[in-house]
Amino acid sequence: MSTVSDSFDIEIAKTSRINEVDFENLSFGEIFSDHMLVCDYKNGAWERPQIKPYQNISISPSASVFHYGQAIFEGMKAYKDQNGDAWLFRPEDNFERFNKSCERLAMPAITKEYFMEGLHKLLKLDQNWIKSGAGNSLYIRPFMIASQAGVVASPAKEYKFMVICSPAQSYYNGEVRVKIAETFSRAASGGFGYAKAAGNYAGSFYPTRLAQAEGFQQVVWTDANTHQNIEEAGTMNIFVRIGNTLITGPTSDSILDGITRKSLIQLAKDNGINLEVRPIKVAEILEAHKNNQLLEMFGAGTAAVVSPISGFGYKGEKYEIAPQEDSYATFFKKTLNDIQYNLSPDPYGWRVKAY
Ligand SMILES: *Cc1c(COP(=O)(O)O)cnc(C)c1O
Repeated sequence: MSTVSDSFDIEIAKTSRINEVDFENLSFGEIFSDHMLVCDYKNGAWERPQIKPYQNISISPSASVFHYGQAIFEGMKAYKDQNGDAWLFRPEDNFERFNKSCERLAMPAITKEYFMEGLHKLLKLDQNWIKSGAGNSLYIRPFMIASQAGVVASPAKEYKFMVICSPAQSYYNGEVRVKIAETFSRAASGGFGYAKAAGNYAGSFYPTRLAQAEGFQQVVWTDANTHQNIEEAGTMNIFVRIGNTLITGPTSDSILDGITRKSLIQLAKDNGINLEVRPIKVAEILEAHKNNQLLEMFGAGTAAVVSPISGFGYKGEKYEIAPQEDSYATFFKKTLNDIQYNLSPDPYGWRVKAY
């Protein structure tokens, strides 16, 4: 069935796959909801967006994305409350960051209407894929790729903007120990680490695999110039608690401006947590650990809100961080989750109806 809804073409799936899905045992990012959004950019303009059954796409093997890596994305979630209402968390921030990433990769900006209305329409269609209950969500992946055929090393003239959705559960993934990078970097100054670009991820896999072979789960990236300041934990922003001071690095061209990070900064300010936004030296972390003042380290990002770090390795030594009672990590996770799942008032206006 094909219906036309304002400026979108909508084709509804004949049958839903939802009954084939075991929502109690999801592995992250492997199952996708019934529909997807596709919008093509040609001749200098975005064409009419389509919402249609989730399916493969056809694309030339010479398409620019395969050769020169013009690919960017976002990661966001829809949450459902006990009344059956579904919510997004700060979606306009994702939209703005999406276009910032586009600009850095010389890709065309998507319109706000196509991004936001596209999300609302897609989520309304696939609303049964958003499950209520603690830890359940629908992970949303907007992305853009250069689709123009031809191996010309210059910005493509044709692109695809798409949105796909994958049901997710938060699960306890065991203790996270990290290796502080001594030589590798995720992003360079002057580079595009602040963009959510596919290439940043590609470059992080090899150092992460090496760290995993040494028994760590993730890499804590250090700055490319000196390797003396920590930047991010894997694909999350990083927070360090020394005594009762919480520290996170300033955003830069090599540190991604995380929406979770800036939400935690706001919550810290409003809840009497002493917070400093400044570069964090590896030496300072080692010193604090020696003096028993390194109370917490955690990553912050949409996937898990916060992900506590229980130990780290640096220059062949291993360091443990004892679990903290009344941790800042637990406070942040609960406070943010309560806002996301409509379990508490939202004085910030962060929670937005999904459709
Ligand atoms: C997506 C991402 C984050 C987290 O951003 P959120 O908006 O909080 O999800 C942090 N660092 C990197 C490198 C990322 O790609």
